[in-house]
Amino acid sequence: MKSRTKVVVIGGGIAGCSTLYHLTQEGWTDVVLVERNELTSGTTWHSAAQVTNFGMNQTMVGLKSHSIRLYKELADDPEYPINYHHGDGGIRLANTEGQMQGYHHFASMARGMDVHFEVIDADECARRHPLISTDNLIGGLWDPLDGDIDPAQLCQALARRARKAGAEVYRNTPVTGLVQHGDDTWTVQTEHGDIDCDIVVNACGYRVNEVGAMMGVHHPVSSMEHQYFLTEEISAIRDAGHRMPLLRCPISDYYCRQEKNGLLLGFYEQDCKTWGMDGIDPNFVNALCPDDLDRVTDVLEGAFARMPALMEAGIHTVVNGPITYTIDGAPLVGPIPGKRNAFCIIGLRAGLGEGGGHGWLLAQQIVHGEACYDTWCLDPRRFTGHANVELTALKAIEDYQNEFRFHFPHEHRPAGRLAKTTPLTPVQASEGAEFTVVNGWERVDYIKPSPDFTPTHSFGFDETFDVVAAEVRNVQTGVGLAEVNGFNRIEITGADRHAFLDRVFCGPVTRREARVGLGYLLNHHGMVKAEATVANLPASDRGLARVWYGSAAASEFHDMDWLRQNMQGDEDVHLRSLTNDQTILVLAGPKARLVLSACARGDWSAEVFPWLNVRECFVGIAPATVMNLSFSGELAYEIHVPNASLYAAYLALRQAGEAHGMRLFGARAVETMRMEKSFLHWKADLITEFDPFETGLDRFVRLNKGDFVGRAALLKRQSDGPRKKLVSLQILSKSGPANPGASLMQGDQVVGTITSGEWGHRTGLNLAHAFVDPAFSGIGHEMELDSCGQRVRATVIPACPYDPEFARMKA
Ligand SMILES: Cc1cc2nc3c(=O)[nH]c(=O)nc-3n(C[C@H](O)[C@H](O)[C@H](O)COP(=O)(O)OP(=O)(O)OC[C@H]3O[C@@H](n4cnc5c(N)ncnc54)[C@H](O)[C@@H]3O)c2cc1C
Repeated sequence: MKSRTKVVVIGGGIAGCSTLYHLTQEGWTDVVLVERNELTSGTTWHSAAQVTNFGMNQTMVGLKSHSIRLYKELADDPEYPINYHHGDGGIRLANTEGQMQGYHHFASMARGMDVHFEVIDADECARRHPLISTDNLIGGLWDPLDGDIDPAQLCQALARRARKAGAEVYRNTPVTGLVQHGDDTWTVQTEHGDIDCDIVVNACGYRVNEVGAMMGVHHPVSSMEHQYFLTEEISAIRDAGHRMPLLRCPISDYYCRQEKNGLLLGFYEQDCKTWGMDGIDPNFVNALCPDDLDRVTDVLEGAFARMPALMEAGIHTVVNGPITYTIDGAPLVGPIPGKRNAFCIIGLRAGLGEGGGHGWLLAQQIVHGEACYDTWCLDPRRFTGHANVELTALKAIEDYQNEFRFHFPHEHRPAGRLAKTTPLTPVQASEGAEFTVVNGWERVDYIKPSPDFTPTHSFGFDETFDVVAAEVRNVQTGVGLAEVNGFNRIEITGADRHAFLDRVFCGPVTRREARVGLGYLLNHHGMVKAEATVANLPASDRGLARVWYGSAAASEFHDMDWLRQNMQGDEDVHLRSLTNDQTILVLAGPKARLVLSACARGDWSAEVFPWLNVRECFVGIAPATVMNLSFSGELAYEIHVPNASLYAAYLALRQAGEAHGMRLFGARAVETMRMEKSFLHWKADLITEFDPFETGLDRFVRLNKGDFVGRAALLKRQSDGPRKKLVSLQILSKSGPANPGASLMQGDQVVGTITSGEWGHRTGLNLAHAFVDPAFSGIGHEMELDSCGQRVRATVIPACPYDPEFARMKA
């Protein structure tokens, strides 16, 4: 066994084997994998091992495509062929128009990744799968490349290729401890000795938190029991003359694929069970949970009704094994929050199909610092302090119960709600607020017109359209108040704070006291990493001179890690998170100044306190820090208040607002107004796949200001020219917004992808942002949006269609 290596991957299931193999493909061959038993002795050994292209966003589709390409290549390798039923095809069934609409959207989104799904009607489903009845069926989504693979052979093939490239695999070698040293390197302690290394990777499946505990972290992953059975031979399958396509059924919650001349049927029962919550028997190796088919009777009835041939088939094997889930159902693949040189590839619930792609993206992150796709949807830092195992278990149960029922836009399911609240949450609930969830925070979405108001979930416009329009009208013509909780805030102190910020931002960072600025941070490839406001607070009785770095609610762990990584040892810079201590109240509209003046002393006139100024004050009796900033495009003040005083500030503002007809507004109204200003959203429009020039942020870049993170790479990128351009679009449709991920077409050619879309109530325009081929980025260029299967005209328009002079927000 080596005593020193570059990377130790812990765990020899699909996650670990794929990571090891892909590290060698990225050029790192001094790497090892350590497995406590034999390879594939965790969940991988008993997987149903279906391999589909279907994903909820382009990153997921892209990584699944990689798996399929790789598995096909492995299957065709004459030196070590493996069993892979590639291209049996698969159908996701639908019995509601909403599901069909969603499938049309996912087909449009996948086309941008060169993946071609087909939406088919019920008769066509039955033609392609001769065992199914069309009762209570509208149609389905066809994935032509769906199939299944032998999981043990797959892992052995990956390990074999990795070994050939120089990697080593140590079986029957349990990891017993992890020690990190002052230089951020690690010692991995095993039953057979220590291995020193630069980087560790946790790929331990359902034992993720045993290994997490060795490095003092807790991962939001929990396991569910999951069952399938295999039938005896079915004559109709034997005689069909072709393999049966796979089925996934959101109506009755099962999946089904051919196994020999019978079927494999897996269940997602409502009466489901978590597993291993109180610890896992160390001897649970190549093991299963006891069968419990009574739990799945309801699901089974649905499957019998759809496939009557099942009724004549005997069951010959039942498999019940643990499967891991996270809070939002997607795995955790990337850097471990708060740790250096530590990565994970955990929480895989469809790991056989996805594992090839996850290992590929993780290896890229380890070797290059970033992957070819934006990996935020997989980033372990996307959850923050609220992400504990109890919350994960609640969400896992909910997710399992809805396995094949995708989320609609704006849909937030009920499990695990109220994870993060402020003193205003119950107050606003009593005032009729409907809440959305942002990184665990309950944030007001809109104010319901009546207590029983329940909009239909849809990819089109729904009943909230007029509700949001009224909130926007009130902000545009009078004044509105909104709570924006969970906004990430890092306090930066120390004599070198400005020099530090100059180095991590790609543009000018204001050093003037009492001023606020907006800026962008790049990664080392010159791509957009983060967006933040920087507020310079002078020394006062509330603290030393300091900077408040403010960014999107979910970015807390991500941005803190990035800032810490880019600090230099001898710099006088100190970072402190205030995210959970302060909340923002946004006062917006032409009458905002009148309301603020009525409850906070001082001169708030545009001359004395203009746009981009910040000042400490009291709102009523509440200490507050007020910034003249606007995300709505109207005159607006961000009023930052410590949570202990939030209710007092709220009452003072409500009282002062009464005379001016002030009303509450929510996140939906903010979303439509920011679209009309062409303001961008982090991880929607601002992603690591594009540089700031491609993203239209030229005015925020100063290449001549001296060195900054990402500058060298950006200069090179600039000389290569843009691959895509972010544009504003007008969509000629009144039936629905341009949904993120949807494809823009010129004939049969995909020329762009939507990143955000919403109706602009002040402009009366259906607006979108999209990355398009540079040849299509000129003002007036026309293309077609594939909007849930309908082609609608999309035209490039100048950015900022509402008040392009910014006169209203500077008023
Ligand atoms: C019944 C069932 C059906 C499924 N069907 C499908 C399907 O059709 N398609 C699909 O894509 N997915 C399916 N899955 C899910 C899929 O099998 C898993 O997502 C995948 O196998 C997880 O792989 P993994 O490598 O993350 O974990 P595992 O396979 O559990 O591997 C983790 C490894 O880490 C090792 N390890 C743990 N602790 C230590 C330690 N201290 N030191 C060293 N090594 C350690 C373990 O021994 C184990 O080998 C199914 C799962 C189940 C239960």
